Amino acid sequence: MSRYLQGLKCRACDARYPAEVRSTCDECFGPVEPSYDEERIRAEVTRADVERGPRSLWRFEALLPAVRNQDVDLGDGWSPLRRARRLGAELGLPNLWVKDETRNPTHSFKDRVVSVALTKAVELGFGTVACASTGNLANAVAAHAAAAGLRAVTLAFVNVGLRPYYAEGSKTIALETAEQLGWRAPDHAVVPVASGALLTKVAEGFRQLHRVGLLGEEPAVRVSGAQAQGCAPVATAYLEGTDEVRPVRYPETIAKSLAIGAPADGHFALDEVRRSGGALAAVTDDEIVEAVGLLARTEGIFAETAGGVTIATLERLASRGVVQPDETVVAYITGMGLKTLDGFGTRFGVQATIGPKVEALLEAVPA
Ligand SMILES: *Cc1c(COP(=O)(O)O)cnc(C)c1O
Ligand SMILES: [Zn+2]
Repeated sequence: MSRYLQGLKCRACDARYPAEVRSTCDECFGPVEPSYDEERIRAEVTRADVERGPRSLWRFEALLPAVRNQDVDLGDGWSPLRRARRLGAELGLPNLWVKDETRNPTHSFKDRVVSVALTKAVELGFGTVACASTGNLANAVAAHAAAAGLRAVTLAFVNVGLRPYYAEGSKTIALETAEQLGWRAPDHAVVPVASGALLTKVAEGFRQLHRVGLLGEEPAVRVSGAQAQGCAPVATAYLEGTDEVRPVRYPETIAKSLAIGAPADGHFALDEVRRSGGALAAVTDDEIVEAVGLLARTEGIFAETAGGVTIATLERLASRGVVQPDETVVAYITGMGLKTLDGFGTRFGVQATIGPKVEALLEAVPA
């Protein structure tokens, strides 16, 4: 059992429960999340302790609901935060950074949530874990279950009973970002939205780091959300100015990993965006493919369609003055391009076949 975990608490009514297998509150059916003894963390955990930790998200074990299990930790997280100078120059954002989640063990940000959830599953004595997934989650669950000696079952839907622990894995992306910026929070974070858990936990992650004394200044991070037009329930609510996140029954977009029609944390994400002074945008499939190309051409990072959603949204919000040139901006690139080749059509295929003659080469590649 983690040293600082106090149990689960309801996000709506504050009811408390032990750290068991549970996703909702018995009193009000609200979602529950882990709560920690932040006073003790503040007194006992230092930046140097974190910096001495493993080169994975488990360096932040004090802020996680389980103790690191070396069998389950495949080197999840602790992904590079790259200064994106060339992309930033194209978008007019001189202080742009990208967090490169393509480099996780199964090449998406889902390795974070699964690393935490399956560590907890082993602790709770599970033998089998299951999930519903279109790809990224299934890959992450299969890999971590194999390493932990658990049986994994993937249906086209895992993340129910273990969801409160699972979602804590998302938080680590914000904790790492702050450490990598020299223990500072960025001014603006641009986050892709599927269920809305990642966005909500990124916002909370920066605040929690401050509460436990690892971030000096109180962070004021503006959080913006990115969705694809073919499945944009949260962005639509934002743009229409309502509080109601209406489900999308038939999602239709190449950004399959973000295509959740009824996002469980949609209204929390909407609320974080509004309260922090961020924005949400919905981008088209063509814009997504172009943005994947832009990121590859400027920074050498090949993102899946979800990364294209983030970069296209960043582009739009920068051109509208929502993301501003004087801000330190971090864009989250949450998955790798080789996973979604179908969605790109012929866009990144072979450009030309050149005959084995110098003349043919010179013709195809002018000096
Ligand atoms: C799951 C996922 C997200 C975000 O998911 P949330 O459900 O909003 O937490 C973002 N990008 C990729 C590639 C994903 O697979
Ligand atoms: Zn409750």
